[in-house]
Amino acid sequence: MKIVKAEAKKIRYTSLMVRDGEGHSHPGKPHEDSVGFLAITCDDGTVGYAVGGNMNVDILNKVVCPAVIGEDPFMHERIWQRMRTWQRLHSLFSDRTLCALDLALWDICGKKCGIPVYKMLGGYRDKVPAYGSIMVGDDIKGGLDTPEAYAAYAKELVKRGYKAIKLHTWMPPIIPAPDPKMDVRACQLVRDAVGPDIELMLDPYHDYTRQQALYIADALNELDFLWMEEPMDEHSMSSYIWLTQNTGLQICGPETAEGKNRMRAEWIVNGASDIGRAGTEVTGGITSVMKSVHLYESFGMSIELHGNTIGNLHVLGAMGIDGKYFERGLLHPLLDYEKPKPWFKKIYDPMDEEGFVKIPDGPGLGLDFDFDYIKENIID
Ligand code: MG
Repeated sequence: MKIVKAEAKKIRYTSLMVRDGEGHSHPGKPHEDSVGFLAITCDDGTVGYAVGGNMNVDILNKVVCPAVIGEDPFMHERIWQRMRTWQRLHSLFSDRTLCALDLALWDICGKKCGIPVYKMLGGYRDKVPAYGSIMVGDDIKGGLDTPEAYAAYAKELVKRGYKAIKLHTWMPPIIPAPDPKMDVRACQLVRDAVGPDIELMLDPYHDYTRQQALYIADALNELDFLWMEEPMDEHSMSSYIWLTQNTGLQICGPETAEGKNRMRAEWIVNGASDIGRAGTEVTGGITSVMKSVHLYESFGMSIELHGNTIGNLHVLGAMGIDGKYFERGLLHPLLDYEKPKPWFKKIYDPMDEEGFVKIPDGPGLGLDFDFDYIKENIID
């Protein structure tokens, strides 16, 4: 089996999300936007796909796609390792772009074998509990502008079936500025609103000082929170060692620091977090996350995956260790998460009343594309 064609394009759509100066998403006025769409075709007609706004279409077409023509998609590890080394000098070749290639390759392999990707990886479970991941705070009336607004929305999410909730609080350039006291107040009101049986987590501003991070961690420990993630710059591993040693709250990470499984190995041996973290988009695909999964398992640590990606769902289906939750979101009172993106016929992560998401049972990644929409809206 050989790859004969590989091409990335963009799909036009009407977005209801705007990104602020730091890159965080918020609800906004409808406007035209586009997402990347990668298709890799094999000589027997099998096609693997990846879709998403974070892949670099230019790098895919100029660097990645020509390099995979003629390759056997089942020699997946070899392709991934080669591309990983190419990232060093192709400075725009991000882990998110490597992830797109990796997803399309896994999609091909699953389709060819007629089974879902999580079973190709070695299946463990066919559904996972989800937590509701609330969007970063904003200054929108009826949105997430106050601690009280978080509490009201958290109550709503529990009514919808969520057994666990994560807050993202306020970050620049949104006013109010990051404020540890306001973060703790939001967490306190959410705990009061949902009661003691809902698991809670916090992902605050990512550039607090050690003292600010410790203040929040200790307060959240009192509120029986499950974990806090990325309260400081993750390049300062020493700060995370210090925080983990000084608080009783579990610290989860690293998420955004570069380096895939190798950097995670450094965090593990240095005791820089209590719970590990990785994700298909932030670490370069399913192939990469599985390396981290096995690494954490070997050290007796659990790992929580970042983001609501299709790849993460399949990894969660193949994890035999304590990776507890699928991150469902980002959720916002003014947005309808249950509505599929226009290039899909249905969402891939519907949640049942018990708070579980079923892993799509394929074949491949099990994505249900609306190819009529894609054909009409592809940008040539
Ligand atoms: Mg995070």
